[in-house]
Amino acid sequence: MKNIILIAAPAAGKGTLSEMLVEKYGYVHISTGDLLRDVSTSDTQLGRTVSDMLSQGVLVTDEIVFEILENRLKQDDIKNGFILDGFPRTLEQAKKYDELISRLNIDLGSVIILESDYETLEKRIVGRMLCKSCGSVHNTLTGVNTPKVDNICNKCGGNLYKRSDDNRESFKTRYETFLEKTEPLIEFYQEKGNIHFVNSLDKETMLSGVEDILND
Ligand code: ADP
Repeated sequence: MKNIILIAAPAAGKGTLSEMLVEKYGYVHISTGDLLRDVSTSDTQLGRTVSDMLSQGVLVTDEIVFEILENRLKQDDIKNGFILDGFPRTLEQAKKYDELISRLNIDLGSVIILESDYETLEKRIVGRMLCKSCGSVHNTLTGVNTPKVDNICNKCGGNLYKRSDDNRESFKTRYETFLEKTEPLIEFYQEKGNIHFVNSLDKETMLSGVEDILND
């Protein structure tokens, strides 16, 4: 299977799409946000530094991000295809990633950009709730996968929680960072010729758009 790099504004559907591709095709999902959230729970100086950056919605330093990503990419389970979600986020990271994968002998794969609009994304962020056990995404505002029982996962019955950065203020910062830092990546990958654009306003259109690219 082709490796996939997912680039999109916060809450544009990276997590939801990844969940579908993992279930349907057995992809391995690598989210730098998840890896960083794991680190942020450790009771160490590094854990506290990362935790502060995450709740402010600012980018974590490349030094930290690359160390955890390289460790993840050295694990055997990535060999059959993985989805990179939330990385690269800057032109600098994209260039350093090229060096990293050539050193580790990993294919770049396809770059997929999920397109959406500000108002939809804001609602998704403010209403978003995640399952502690299976990671499934729920929403209390958009009408998509509303929890049937308050704070309980529709899929596995686990407890739902809100991410510390899922509020209006942090969303605004994350969205502005996306426009400023991440959009230049689009040009970078356009020059390489491996970029595809998919509308992410609803789940089914998004999945079929991505499947067309994977089957191409
Ligand atoms: P979202 O895309 O909804 O902001 P993520 O889970 O991808 O959510 O990222 C959450 C936070 O983790 C970001 O706001 C940032 O602080 C940090 N982060 C994730 N990926 C990176 C990265 N590649 N480089 C720097 N910081 C990152």
